[in-house]
Amino acid sequence: MPSWASVFIMLFKTLIPLLTLALTVHAGPSASKRATCSNGRTASDSKCCVWYDVLDDIQASDGLFQGGQCGEDAHQSLRLTFHDAIGFSPALTSQGKFGGGGADGSIMAHSDVELTYGENFGMDDIVELQRSFALRHNVSFGDFIQFAGAVGVSNCAGGPRLQFLAGRSNDSQVSPDNLVPSPADTVDAILDRMSDAGFSAAEVVDLLASHSVAAQEHLDTTIVGSPLDSTPSVFDAQFFVETLLNGTAFPGDSSSGFAEEKSPLVGEFRMTSDAELARDSRTACEWQSFVTDQALMVSKFEAVMAKLAVLGQDSSTLIDCSDVIPKPKAAASNVAKLPAGKTLADIDASCAETPFPTLSADSEQGNTDYWLLLGPATSVAPVR
Ligand code: CA
Ligand code: CA
Repeated sequence: MPSWASVFIMLFKTLIPLLTLALTVHAGPSASKRATCSNGRTASDSKCCVWYDVLDDIQASDGLFQGGQCGEDAHQSLRLTFHDAIGFSPALTSQGKFGGGGADGSIMAHSDVELTYGENFGMDDIVELQRSFALRHNVSFGDFIQFAGAVGVSNCAGGPRLQFLAGRSNDSQVSPDNLVPSPADTVDAILDRMSDAGFSAAEVVDLLASHSVAAQEHLDTTIVGSPLDSTPSVFDAQFFVETLLNGTAFPGDSSSGFAEEKSPLVGEFRMTSDAELARDSRTACEWQSFVTDQALMVSKFEAVMAKLAVLGQDSSTLIDCSDVIPKPKAAASNVAKLPAGKTLADIDASCAETPFPTLSADSEQGNTDYWLLLGPATSVAPVR
């Protein structure tokens, strides 16, 4: 009779070759499929290799993002992903008209027409900057716009790591006008337009996490670069708190701005659409849900951006090159703070289902480069 110990050893000896075989069989095909790209980097498909070269180029110190910054060009690149993609309307198509090709690069290919549309005003600089990089690497405009947006927002601390699918055609037609929502639109109009493009009211809020890394330039030209939250280089949940604070003053020369509301902080800009979506019963609870859960905000933003980036595209024909997108630095905190000088009494709690959470107030008034010490209240510096 063999002892239990010898049976165990025999079993173990049999198992090891089986395990080795299983590992070999499993590792074999996937290992051989990975393509080797420049500088020893690998990708799931050789067609993704070009994107490492684009990455090096746009992240260089003299590139689009000036050494991997989350500055104005990263903000504008993220914004451009939306302005290209949202040119997509099944409602127009059902009326027998051309409804736009979505995330097809049309805003760059037909910039002479699309940049004359009111809602695309001021996007000339980023379109022309990006165009030279796309042409240099011989990639399609539609791909480049989504790639640059994904890389740009990955430069923001706490940012998402967006999916990136490559292979969009470089042929496109001019998008119809009036498909990009305006910051002056009513909540009804915004939700209707976004619903036509396939987005729920909650997904509209998810997309607006992008306003955590954003500044306005043309809505009020007296305060160019005024950000939409106090931390425009950090992809945090501050935007969702600060838009719910009572507006106290216009940051510029009175109410001269377009779609401009009173904001709670000196130097901060508040868009009419953000102010209203934060307080509307259809969107207020999704809005509030991010205040104490930045990780949820990021995962929902990743999901909705994966949808936006392939509007009008057949994603089954695209190649997943998400490996190329850099991993962002983690956020400092999962929970937003009340800006210094504010209390919970300043919050317009707008979600009927859930009380507004208790937040700690920022006591330092200087926790990032963008907070300045100017008197008792928080003020916010412009983005340059
Ligand atoms: Ca388009
Ligand atoms: Ca922010």
